[in-house]
Amino acid sequence: MTTPLKGFVHSTESFGSVDGPGIRFVVFMQGCRMRCQFCHNPDTWNIGAGTEMTTDELLDMAMEYEYFWGDKGGITVSGGEPLLQIDFIIELFQKAKALGVNTALDTCGQPFTRDEPFFGRFEELMKVTDLILMDIKHIDRQKHKELTMWVNDSILDMTQYLSEIGQPIWVRHVLIPERTDYDEFLTRLGDYIATLKNVQKVEILPYHKMGIYKYQALGIPYKLEGIDSPTQERVENARRLLRCDEYKNYLAV
Ligand code: SF4
Repeated sequence: MTTPLKGFVHSTESFGSVDGPGIRFVVFMQGCRMRCQFCHNPDTWNIGAGTEMTTDELLDMAMEYEYFWGDKGGITVSGGEPLLQIDFIIELFQKAKALGVNTALDTCGQPFTRDEPFFGRFEELMKVTDLILMDIKHIDRQKHKELTMWVNDSILDMTQYLSEIGQPIWVRHVLIPERTDYDEFLTRLGDYIATLKNVQKVEILPYHKMGIYKYQALGIPYKLEGIDSPTQERVENARRLLRCDEYKNYLAV
């Protein structure tokens, strides 16, 4: 008998309403290589920590909530960065699809590469993924590195690839005063998104400070000290520059 594949899971949320369409069972996978200054889950960063679970154990937990999913809901896998455990996610989504469950992947795309063995695995994953929630942290390469400790090459390449194959995505962008909230960068991001053929929705996520206590508990310096959430006016400005109202395909799904 082969040993079942296990994944490192940080936590789960039974009634997620902000990570994809409808009501969703959200799985937060453990481990991330990025270090976003605004990350509200720094406790997901450590690779190899978390609770070890099989895909059957996770799916059994999720299916208890199937009744609440209706036409649109389902399972979202988030993180941390779920693509660091791609084999586990493929198996989980294959089993979910066999049960007719809607699957969404919330990713920053950092592990993406067109090199093997990753690329072949990624193609497998796309066959069983209904929607990608694609987090684009910053459109500018250097600013992206300052904000997250990584450049955005693999992220934009993944976005490009998803456009090439017509994989539906929702683009998500965190609006942070003094970091991402500049008309110049928002306009560039809006122009970039407009080149993509697969965008169903564009979401602005206003920065909030809800994760600060985790940094204090973990003894990690918080780099956005003194920066407040954006005003409603700036959120509206970002929505206009990213042309959020033009992406309405998600309503038809
Ligand atoms: S990619 Fe996500 S989990 Fe990783 S540091 Fe950034 S916000 Fe946090």
